[in-house]
Amino acid sequence: MSEEKILYGACRFCGQTQTVNEDEVLDVIRQTGAEGEDAKNIVATRYCTCEEAKAQATHEMKLEAAGEWARGVFEKDPEKLQCVLCAIKATSEHHFGRIAIKSGKYNYTFDVDAAGDIRIKTKYTDTQEETF
Ligand SMILES: [Zn+2]
Repeated sequence: MSEEKILYGACRFCGQTQTVNEDEVLDVIRQTGAEGEDAKNIVATRYCTCEEAKAQATHEMKLEAAGEWARGVFEKDPEKLQCVLCAIKATSEHHFGRIAIKSGKYNYTFDVDAAGDIRIKTKYTDTQEETF
């Protein structure tokens, strides 16, 4: 049994401190490679109730959902998956207004709609030609 430690982190936006769960901090370190202090702040930011922190949490949720979609569609092609994840992130963070990717008969368009949601459009085009 490990003795209980109380860890504190500060919101990255408003600086409000709060207690953070050690397991969650360890998860953040594993997933992001953040250092101890940063990892604690990342966890504290997740639970902070200030507007900026809430907006960030919503954004991360959407990013996660879009990432799930991408992993489902491109599970057999890790290189394409990397490009698509990058396109989702870059448009959702407004580095680019829109990114279009063509893959075989599929055209994917990534952008953010008026409501601020990540939008991914898939268009499938198939043309058949017969000559006799
Ligand atoms: Zn905050």
